[in-house]
Amino acid sequence: MMTQRTDLLAAFDTLLQPERFRDFGPNGLQVEGCATVQKIVSGVTASRALIEAAIAANAGAIFVHHGLFWRGQDGRVTGWMKQRLALLLAHDINLFAYHLPLDAHPELGNNAQLGLQLGLIVQSRFGEQDLGCLGERIDGTAFDGAQLLADHVAFVLNRPVSLVNNAQKAIKKIAWCSGGAQTYFEAAIAAGADAFITGELSEPQAHIARECGVAYIACGHHASERYGAPAAAAHVAAQFGLAHEFIDIDNPA
Ligand SMILES: [Zn+2]
Repeated sequence: MMTQRTDLLAAFDTLLQPERFRDFGPNGLQVEGCATVQKIVSGVTASRALIEAAIAANAGAIFVHHGLFWRGQDGRVTGWMKQRLALLLAHDINLFAYHLPLDAHPELGNNAQLGLQLGLIVQSRFGEQDLGCLGERIDGTAFDGAQLLADHVAFVLNRPVSLVNNAQKAIKKIAWCSGGAQTYFEAAIAAGADAFITGELSEPQAHIARECGVAYIACGHHASERYGAPAAAAHVAAQFGLAHEFIDIDNPA
C-alpha cells in the first residue's frame, strides 16, 4: 500500500490538531520528500542516527516528536544541520514533526502513553496548555512511599531515575508530564500531587521538592517520550495500510 504525502499530512494534522497549541517550532511537514509514501519510521528525535536508520529501512517518511527546527535557532544550514538535511533531501524522505500536540493527545500522546506504561489513569489535566496529567494507579492503591514509586518507574522504563524528597508518606495522587517539564512542578503541587514525574531535573526544583514535601522523579527526557511517536505513527499508518517501524535511538539524557 502507498499514500500521498499530502494525505499523510492531513491525517496527522487531523489527529494531533497542531493549531490548538503555542509551540516552540513548526508542527507538521518540516522537510518535503517523495510524493508517495509506503513506509513510516517513527522515532523520538530527528537525529542523524535516526535518519540513517530510516534510510536503511527504506522509509518514505519519518515521524518524530523532536524535529529539526526550533525557535531561537540561528538558521544556518551548517555542520550537523547540513548533514541531517543532506541525508533527508538526498533520499527524498519526508520529515513530519509534532511537538506539544504529540505530548498532549489524550490517547496516543506522550503523556497518555507514559501513563499507560506506568499503570496510571488520568483523572485530570494541569499546567500550561493542559499538558500535564494528574491521576493515580489503575487499582486506586497508593505507593507506600516515594522510593517505591521511583523503583516502579525505573523498572518500567528500564533505566535509573533520580528521586528528590524521598517522602515516606503514601503516594496516591501522581502528576506527570513528559520531557523537560521541570517548570510544571509548581502547577503539579498546586493541583494536589503527592509526586511529580518528568524527564529532567533542574536545580530550583530540587529545593522546591524538599520544601513542599512533594516527591520529584526525573526519569529521562528521552525515556519519558519514547511512546507517543510510535503510537501516533502506527495509528496513521494503519489508516492507510502503510508499513510502520519504531526505531529507538537510545539517549542517556
Ligand atoms: Zn521533548
